[in-house]
Amino acid sequence: VQNKECPLDKEELGNATWGFLHTLASYYPEKPSKIEADNMVKFFNIFSQFYPCEPCAQDFQEDIQKNPPKTKTREELAKWLCDRHNTVNEKLGKPLFDCSKVHERWRDGWLDGSCD
Ligand code: FAD
Repeated sequence: VQNKECPLDKEELGNATWGFLHTLASYYPEKPSKIEADNMVKFFNIFSQFYPCEPCAQDFQEDIQKNPPKTKTREELAKWLCDRHNTVNEKLGKPLFDCSKVHERWRDGWLDGSCD
């Protein structure tokens, strides 16, 4: 019998984490205050330090050093994060995601109504 409550493997952790991060970005203020914008930069820097998959965290830290978080608007943050996820997708040989659809996927639901 398989126990359903087991520690997350790398894939489960990644899937759940992307869900959280994209939802966070999709609900980030459209026009954040300076403090909010600065704190969101800090959030990603700290997140990348403690993400509990060492090789993932290592590569993500390098990636966000090259491409620092863009936190001036919701649009900018959602697009930046989508690009970061696509960088990981590319590394893993997964299909790239169309970043113009990021709010449909993570906030509004698909235009065809399939999430209603
Ligand atoms: P996921 O990649 O988890 O995606 C979940 C859903 O997000 C998809 O079904 C799709 O609907 C949507 N999606 C896909 N791409 C995008 C995008 N660009 N923008 C918005 N939405 C999108 N795994 C490794 O093996 N090696 C690593 O180095 C590694 N690094 C990681 C770094 C981070 C920061 C995170 C959060 C995860 C990392 N992972 C890594 C895990 C990996 O990215 C996947 O989460 C895991 O392989 C499970 O993939 P999945 O097929 O469930 O889809």
